[in-house]
Amino acid sequence: MNQTKYIFVTGGVTSSLGKGIIAASLAKLLQARGYRTTIQKFDPYLNVDPGTLNPYEHGECYVTDDGAETDLDLGHYERFLNVPTSQANNVTTGRIYLSVIEKERRGEFLGKTVQVVPHITNEIKDRMQLLGKSGDYDIVITEIGGTVGDIESLPYIESVRQLVWDLGENNAIVIHLTLIPYLAAAGELKTKPTQHSVKTLMESGIKADILVCRTEHELSQELRSKLALFCNVKKEAVIQSIDASTIYEVPNLMLEEGLDIVALKKLDLPKKAAPDLKTWNTFLKRLKSPKHTVNIGLIGKYVEMQDCYKSILEAFIHSGAANETKVNVVSIHSEYIDEENIAEKFKDIDAILVAPGFGERGIEGKIAAVRYARENKMPFFGICLGMQMSVIEYSRNVLGLSEANSTEMNDQTSHPVVNLMEEQKNVTDKGGTMRLGAWKCEIKPNTLAYQIYGETTIFERHRHRYEYNSAYVADLEKAGLKASGVNPDTGLVEIVEIEEHPFFIGVQYHPEYKSTVANPHPLFVNFVAAAVKARKK
Ligand code: GLN
Repeated sequence: MNQTKYIFVTGGVTSSLGKGIIAASLAKLLQARGYRTTIQKFDPYLNVDPGTLNPYEHGECYVTDDGAETDLDLGHYERFLNVPTSQANNVTTGRIYLSVIEKERRGEFLGKTVQVVPHITNEIKDRMQLLGKSGDYDIVITEIGGTVGDIESLPYIESVRQLVWDLGENNAIVIHLTLIPYLAAAGELKTKPTQHSVKTLMESGIKADILVCRTEHELSQELRSKLALFCNVKKEAVIQSIDASTIYEVPNLMLEEGLDIVALKKLDLPKKAAPDLKTWNTFLKRLKSPKHTVNIGLIGKYVEMQDCYKSILEAFIHSGAANETKVNVVSIHSEYIDEENIAEKFKDIDAILVAPGFGERGIEGKIAAVRYARENKMPFFGICLGMQMSVIEYSRNVLGLSEANSTEMNDQTSHPVVNLMEEQKNVTDKGGTMRLGAWKCEIKPNTLAYQIYGETTIFERHRHRYEYNSAYVADLEKAGLKASGVNPDTGLVEIVEIEEHPFFIGVQYHPEYKSTVANPHPLFVNFVAAAVKARKK
């Protein structure tokens, strides 16, 4: 196949309809039929990337192997497809403007007046075709962030219109995701908001080829016909997307509705084989019929908002299924934990994960949680800041360095057991300047880490500025906190563990970013297994 085909996914009526999940589900089905498929997301905000956004604003910041700080939907793409994404898979309006303005400064527009149309739209169109032109993909799905009709989405919508025209019929199609609200008082599903949003799209010159309708109730045949007639699509292209008990159900629901077949037909592509969803469905079966249950305490300061720890929560779903275990993640706010109330707060908890994070708020609660897990021999898993907290806790309570701290929290501390990395010392810009992306780590034999990974060289994704201070490593090792994984080039300690403990591990990187349905992350799988064992006791 030589022509890459494009599928654009737009959203109407309201945000939060789950465009990312629909895009990922369709991609999954196309991939399972044998098409090389990728997904990219175009976001309409002016931040160059979401790296500087507070997690409360936009949920978790997801990190790719090549060190891009991206929208959390890229996590869904990877978890569904089991194919890594990259910098090219997430573009924001900020990035588009930045590159157009840089070109203008370099004089690349030869005296022209630089305008939204055509300069911004051309830049968008180029970016939209970047992955397609690599020759690595048969189908590229592009999710447009925001809702049709928003002022800030307009340049994207215009670019889609032009691209559909440039690429020609059967090479690019538009899927519009909308909401069919249910009015309880009238006992009816309502199509009007969808009709309006399709009309809004039409005003921008785009005709939706497929409608995916989010709904809480089944769409009748009559309603589907009505939607088809008033929204100008074939009836078979009216796809119901009913609320599912888990997002991992959605590919099968879309398969039943024939979304992949309708899309292939519109793109003039053969169906190829029936989708091979064997691994996927085995996972689903295990997810739905667990044999055990565990309560895992997630200790963090953003626990009020689920999206802030998206990849961790999803990694627990993958690793729970791998263990045939239902993992109840119990969110515990680190700001409200202290030495007095901790036993009460943790009384039904089987294992503890101390979450990543930034800044001082809630860290004493995190340190108390590490101590509790260590002293009570409860399975412990610390990620990034969570690992740094375990180094501080060990220094304070085992080595007796009561002043031990991270210089992120107290730059005057007499024992900076966690401090700013050397290469960070002259960094002043906040955006995209952390230690990011995949870095190598060598694992020492005869360690828990080796037992878990089964190999000595691993690559994991990072996002941090501070590190475990090498000046303290030898003393802490002697006292029992083992450095079991080290970056061979920088000597940076990436993994710590305690031998005299059933399961105590802290990692400087973020394993949650690499956990997928097909490849649940071994650290999470083993942590859940340790929790099951602890509970049985
Ligand atoms: N704030 C810590 C650092 O910058 C940890 C970061 C994180 O948990 N991702 O090193």
